[in-house]
Amino acid sequence: MVDDLYQETILDHSKRPRNCHMMEDANRRAEGYNPLCGDKLKLYLKVENDVVQDASFEGSGCAISTASASLMTESLKGKTREEALRLLEKFHTLLTTDEAAAKDLGKLVVFCGVRDYPARVKCATLAWHTLKSALNNTGEVATTE
Ligand code: ZN
Repeated sequence: MVDDLYQETILDHSKRPRNCHMMEDANRRAEGYNPLCGDKLKLYLKVENDVVQDASFEGSGCAISTASASLMTESLKGKTREEALRLLEKFHTLLTTDEAAAKDLGKLVVFCGVRDYPARVKCATLAWHTLKSALNNTGEVATTE
């Protein structure tokens, strides 16, 4: 039952991704690439006073990577840089080691089923890898490898 709901949310966000557009006045940008699946992503952030005011992305990738970018950009708005990095940490924990991380993740919990498919974990975390380089302004292409 719960799994169905999670599936439905992922499907919905992959078919109708939110915040899927380029952002002219973004002051942080980063690109991500997952060679294992071929997912590509460009992330745009508008950060003011250390708070993410707006987030959007463009990309071509599988359903999981698209849905993850969509849900991530939704959950980033209004977060401080530190909060965003903490969320990233928790999301990664949920997908790799500890299911208990789920309780603070809100909607992002829909990806917990992905942990059983290690190759898909990279699809789900691509947007977050990209977020990290955007926040750190490294200018490098983030890869999941
Ligand atoms: Zn993928």
